[in-house]
Amino acid sequence: MSDYDVIVIGGGPAGYVAAIRAAQLGLSTACVDKWLDDSGNPVLGGTCLNVGCIPTKALLDSSERFESIKLHGADHGIIAGDISVDIDAMMARKHKVVGELTGGIAGLFKANGVTWLQGTGTLHPEHKVVVTAKDGSESTHSATNVIIATGSVPVEIPPAPLTGETIVDNAGALAWNSVPKTLGVIGAGVIGLELGSLWRRLGSTVTVIEAQDTFLPMADQQTAKAALREFKKQGLEIKLGALVKGTDIADDGVTVSYTDKDGDQSVKVERLIVAVGRRPYTAGVAADDLDLLTDERGFIHVDDLCQTNLPGVWAIGDVVRGPMLAHKGSEEGIVVAERIAGHAAHLNYDAIPSVIYTHPEVAWVGASEEQLKADGVAYKVGAFPYAASGRAKAMNETTGQVRVLASADNDRVLGVHVFGAHAADILAQGVIAIEMQSTLKDLAATVFAHPTLSESFHEAVLAADQMAVHIVNRKPR
Ligand code: NAD
Repeated sequence: MSDYDVIVIGGGPAGYVAAIRAAQLGLSTACVDKWLDDSGNPVLGGTCLNVGCIPTKALLDSSERFESIKLHGADHGIIAGDISVDIDAMMARKHKVVGELTGGIAGLFKANGVTWLQGTGTLHPEHKVVVTAKDGSESTHSATNVIIATGSVPVEIPPAPLTGETIVDNAGALAWNSVPKTLGVIGAGVIGLELGSLWRRLGSTVTVIEAQDTFLPMADQQTAKAALREFKKQGLEIKLGALVKGTDIADDGVTVSYTDKDGDQSVKVERLIVAVGRRPYTAGVAADDLDLLTDERGFIHVDDLCQTNLPGVWAIGDVVRGPMLAHKGSEEGIVVAERIAGHAAHLNYDAIPSVIYTHPEVAWVGASEEQLKADGVAYKVGAFPYAASGRAKAMNETTGQVRVLASADNDRVLGVHVFGAHAADILAQGVIAIEMQSTLKDLAATVFAHPTLSESFHEAVLAADQMAVHIVNRKPR
C-alpha cells in the first residue's frame, strides 16, 4: 500500500499544476520541491514564478510604463517633466508580485489537499521517493505514480563563465539594483531580447551578440524581419553571425571578444547577460540503480503521453522534449493527471503558442510560411497592419501586423503570426482557431467587438480571401 496515489517531483508550472489537477480528481497527492527564496524559505512555483516569466514580466511592465511616458507621454498631452527610475522600488514591486503568486500556490495546495514535501526528491525503485530537507534530514514516501517535473537550468558557455555580478544569467539580471550604463547580451533568443529590452528602456546601451545569421529562425521570417527592424530602431545593437570567443573581466566591466564575417571583434560593457538557452535538469532525480532513459541531450525519454520507460513514472515540462514553455509543461501536467485518474486527455503540440514579451510583442502559433513552403502545402495569406486599426491608432500603437496562414485546399487556419502591441492576447484567437480546426469562413462570420485590437485578426482572416474592409486588398499571389 503506497502513501500516495501520486507524488510529483518539482513544483514549477508543470509540477504544481499536475499536483493540483491530480488532487482535484480525488487522487491523494504530494509535491516535492527544493526551491528556497532569497531568505532561505521554501517556495513553490519554480523558475517561472521565482526567476523567470513572472519577475521578468513585472520588470518589463514597469520599464515599459517608464519608457512610454518618457517618449510618448507628450503625444497624449501628458507632460511629466523629468522622470526617473527608482530601481529599488521597481525591484520591491517585482518581489511583492512574486511573493503573492508563490504564496498563492501554497494556498491552492492547502485548499486542494496537496501535501507539500519541502526538500530534494530522489526516485528509487518501487516508486519510493526519498526527500532530503534543507537541514539534511531524510524521509521516504511511496506512490502508485510518480511524475518528474524538475525543469531546466541555463546553459553556461566556457567563453563567458558566470561571475555572479558582472556576468550573469537571467536570474542575476533580474536582481541588479542599478542600471548598467552599457550591457552586453549573448544570445538574441527569447531571454536575450526580453532582458535586453528591459534594461535598454531603463537607460542601458545594449549590444546583443547572436551566433546565428538569421534573426529568430524559429519564427515566421516576415514577422522576424519586421521585429528586427523595430528593435534596432529602438536602439538595441544586434550583431548577427557573431560567435563569442572569450571574456576578459576588469574592475570597470568586461570585454567580450567575438568573431563575425569581418573577423575578430570585441565590445566592452559594464555587465553581461548570458542567454544561450536552457538544458533539462535531472541531476540526482533518479537513483543510480534506476534505469531511467534519457536522450543524447539529457531530456528524459517519454512517449506521446509523457510516460517514461519505467512503468508508473511520468515526466513533464522542460525536462522532456518540446518547447521549454511554462504553458506547455502545465498542459502536460493536466494530461498526465487526467490519464492517471483514468480519463482520456490529449495535448495538441501543433497548437502551442510562443510569445516574446518585447514591445511590441512577437507571438505565433502553428506553421510559418517557411515551414508550409518546405512541406509543399498550398496556402493563402491574409495580413492586416496595426496602422489600419482604429484602436491601434487611438493607442498610438501603429507598429506591426497580424498575419494568418490558411490551407488553400480546405480553408483551415494553419498558422497565426502577430507582431505588435498586445500580440500575445490577439494570438489567443489564433490558438483557438487552430485547436478547433476553424476555417477562415468560420472566423469571417464571427463578430468581433469594436474598437479592439482583436478586429485586426478578423481583418487578416478576411484579407486572405481579399475581403478585408479597412485596407485595399492585395491580389492573391
Ligand atoms: P533561446 O534558445 O531562445 O535563445 C538562445 C540564443 O543564443 C539562440 O539564438 C542561439 O543561437 C544563441 N547562442 C547560443 N550560443 C551562443 C554563443 N556562444 N554566442 C552567441 N549566441 C549564442 O534560449 P533563451 O533565450 O536562453 O531561453 C531559454 C528557454 O526559455 C527557451 O526555450 C525559451 O523559449 C524559454 N523562455 C521563454 C519565455 C517566454 O515564453 N516568453 C521567456 C524566457 C524564456
